[in-house]
Amino acid sequence: MKAEMIAVGTELLLGQIVNTNAQYLSQQLALLGVDVYYQTVVGDNAERLRHTIEVARSRSNVILFTGGLGPTMDDLTKDVLAELLGCELHYDEDALNRMEQMFAGRGTPMVESNKRQALVIEGSDVLPNRTGLAIGNAIVHEGVAYIVLPGPPREMKPMFAEQVIPWMKDNGLLDASMLYTRMLKFAGIGESSLEDALRDLIEAQGDTTIATYAKEGEVLVRLATKSDDAAQAASKLGEVETEITTRLGRHLFATEDVSMIEVLVNRLIQLQMTLSAAESCTGGLFAEMITSVPGSSEVFLGGAVTYSNEMKERILGVPHELLEGENAPGAVSSETAKAMVEGMQDIADTDFTIAITGVAGPGHSERKPVGLVYIAIGEKGKDTHVEELRLSGDRDTIRIRTVNAVMFRLWRKLQGYG
Ligand code: ATP
Ligand code: MG
Repeated sequence: MKAEMIAVGTELLLGQIVNTNAQYLSQQLALLGVDVYYQTVVGDNAERLRHTIEVARSRSNVILFTGGLGPTMDDLTKDVLAELLGCELHYDEDALNRMEQMFAGRGTPMVESNKRQALVIEGSDVLPNRTGLAIGNAIVHEGVAYIVLPGPPREMKPMFAEQVIPWMKDNGLLDASMLYTRMLKFAGIGESSLEDALRDLIEAQGDTTIATYAKEGEVLVRLATKSDDAAQAASKLGEVETEITTRLGRHLFATEDVSMIEVLVNRLIQLQMTLSAAESCTGGLFAEMITSVPGSSEVFLGGAVTYSNEMKERILGVPHELLEGENAPGAVSSETAKAMVEGMQDIADTDFTIAITGVAGPGHSERKPVGLVYIAIGEKGKDTHVEELRLSGDRDTIRIRTVNAVMFRLWRKLQGYG
C-alpha cells in the first residue's frame, strides 16, 4: 500500500504554521505498516490543488488530505476533489442538523457559508467531526482511496484515530502486518561513537531495522520490525535490544520516549532523595527544567541564581579570596564551583546539590575562554566532585549543554543506588 499526504493551506507555504498534521499522520501510518512515499503542501488554489491530486493519484493508492474544509471561500478541498472525480457535492443532513443545533444553543444565527462544512462528495463515506464542524469524507474511486480531513489538529487527530483507521480496515487498505517499534535513549555519548559501537549490527540488520537520531543531549535508537504477530515482533525487538544494552547499557537512560530530566526526577522520587542547585551562568535553567516535571516538588527543594560575585559571597558564602584578587582562581573555577555547592548544602541540606559556574559567552570579565564551565555535584556526607567542561556553541547552546551534562552525571550517580 502506497500512501501520500496533501496538506492544503497557504499559511503552511508562508511558514506561518508548521505542518504537524503530516508528522502525525506519517507516524500513525508507519505504525499501521502503511508506506508513506510523499508529503505535499499546496496553497489554497484550485488549479494547483487539482494538479497536485492528479500527480498523487497516478502514483499512490491512498491519498490523505488535511485542511481546506472550513466555511470560507478559500476552503476548497472538497470542491476540487469532487470536480476531479466527476461527483456532485451534497449536504449531509446529520451534520447540518448538528450544526443548526449548535448555533441555536449558542444563540447566534448560522451564516449560510457555514453549511459548506456539511458537504459530502457523492458516494463517499461521511466521517463525522466530534470536535468541530467540518465533516470528513472518505471514498475509493477507480482504485484510489481519498481521505479528506479537517486542518485543525484537534479535529483531525480524533477523526483519524476513531474513524479513518476502521475505514481503512473495512476497505482492505491495511495489511495484517503492523510495524512494531521500540525506542532506546542514550546520553553521555555522541551519535558517531554510538554508531561505531553498533556498526556491525546496523550493517547486518535484516527485518529489524536500527536507526539512530541525535538530539541535543541525547541519542535515540529506534528499532522497528514489521510482523503480523505481536509476540514474535516483541521477541525480535527484544533480541536486538539486549545486544545493544550489553554494549551501551552505561549510557542507556530510557526505553521509552521520556526525557532525561523526567527520568532523573522520577528516580529521585523513587529513592526519596532531595536536590538543590546553585547556578551562575545557566541563570536558573537547571531549576527551570527540573520544575517543569510534574512531581518535582517532592525532590527539588530550591536553589539560587548567584550571577554576580557579590551574590556568590552573600548568599552562598563563597570566600572573597576565591573570587577577587591578583591570584584568586575567580568565579569561573573549580574552587568556586565547590564553594558554591558547599554554601548551598549548608542552606538546603539536601541529599544532592549541584553548582554551575562558567562562561556562556560571548565575552567574560575574567578573560576566560567561552565554553569553559565548572560543574560540581555534592552528595551529603561525601566529597564534592567538580568537573571542568570545555563546551562549544553559542550562548544558549552552552547553557543547555551544561545543564544536560549535570543531569547526565547526576543520573549516573543515582545508578549507584539500589
Ligand atoms: P477551519 O474550519 O478551521 O477553516 P480547515 O479544515 O479549513 O479548518 P484550514 O483552514 O486549512 O483548515 O486550517 C485551519 C487551522 O488548522 C490552521 O489555521 C492551523 O491552525 C490548523 N492547520 C491546518 N493545516 C495544518 C497542518 N497541516 N498542520 C498543523 N496545523 C494545521
Ligand atoms: Mg479554513
